[in-house]
Amino acid sequence: MTITQFRTTPETAHPTLRDAVTGLPSYVPGRRSAGVDIAALASNESHYEPLPAAIAAVTTAAGAMNRYPDTAAVELRERLATHLGVTAGEIAVGPGSVGVLQQIITGLCDAGDDVIFAWRSFEAYPILVELAGARPVRIPLDAAEGHDLDAMAAAVTDRTKVILLCTPNNPTGVPISHERIEAFLQSVRSDILVVIDEAYVEYAEAGSGPDSLALYREYPNVCILRTFSKAYGLAGLRVGYAVAAPAIAEGLRRTALPFAVSALAQKAAIASLDAGGEMEARVGAVKQERARMAAQLEAQGWTLQASQGNFLWIRADEHLMASLVDAFDHAGIMVRAYQGDGVRITVASPASNDRVLQVFEAHAA
Ligand code: PMP
Repeated sequence: MTITQFRTTPETAHPTLRDAVTGLPSYVPGRRSAGVDIAALASNESHYEPLPAAIAAVTTAAGAMNRYPDTAAVELRERLATHLGVTAGEIAVGPGSVGVLQQIITGLCDAGDDVIFAWRSFEAYPILVELAGARPVRIPLDAAEGHDLDAMAAAVTDRTKVILLCTPNNPTGVPISHERIEAFLQSVRSDILVVIDEAYVEYAEAGSGPDSLALYREYPNVCILRTFSKAYGLAGLRVGYAVAAPAIAEGLRRTALPFAVSALAQKAAIASLDAGGEMEARVGAVKQERARMAAQLEAQGWTLQASQGNFLWIRADEHLMASLVDAFDHAGIMVRAYQGDGVRITVASPASNDRVLQVFEAHAA
């Protein structure tokens, strides 16, 4: 007797992916031309190498890669707790803040639940929501490229489980003020988790965005999301975290893929926190460059909102976008183009920023 005798389906039947998966966009790898001096300004990475202390920590820890990491990330969570003035029980770590966000959405949403977020915002939001079987509710940005919190509050239904607020917003760079978020929190149900995604918070001018920890203390349905990928320069190591009420943070830790945050990432994150002053000096240089670029672009005639991230956003229609993308391609500069909306360019070293300014100058009216 062979196994085929047990088959009850026709030979042509085959495994199928869920509709939510077939509907997802395919990953398009960025161009990495060998031998050309490509400026990689499409992913909002830090152009600095990791902090020396982080490199040293990783080098020392490398010899223990035969071991699994501490899946509870106790040491890192305790270090973060001291840094933030919360307890380790209120912290969940994950492989990048996008990993933590996936834990948040799968931990809170059943199929058919709503997750509200502004659009445009971080590309991963709708993908993670759809993957979880939940429903993405996109609320268009306001005329000043910021979150339309009134419209977001009005979109709340019985099915709303999570609201994502991105400040400063990727890709527009516009922050949400403390007062506006506080008023929003007063107006939405306290059983909705309001995630404040602060991936770029270190680059924001003091007072431009919320004091998210103060909001968290006052509103236990707030969850703060942060990362070591941007200002700390550890994008390739994958480590981010959430601060949330103990019961939520505990749930996030339970939904985590075991051992997803490597020991190298945990050690590097701790060393980076210890070297926070050096990180701040680098961030200061990026902020200066951001101001220099914004001023020059405005002088060239471009319209832009004050960005609080390590990137600039230029709104562009299809026509302008096509010619800008072409010009950046020719100049060997990788930027992020959002069809029909605009172009986002990471602020990096003065030399690559100058190359960006030259491309824009050649395009100025
Ligand atoms: N949130 C926002 C707003 C982002 O722009 C990004 C990265 N582009 C992330 C989260 C995720 O970053 P990571 O997973 O590297 O922490």
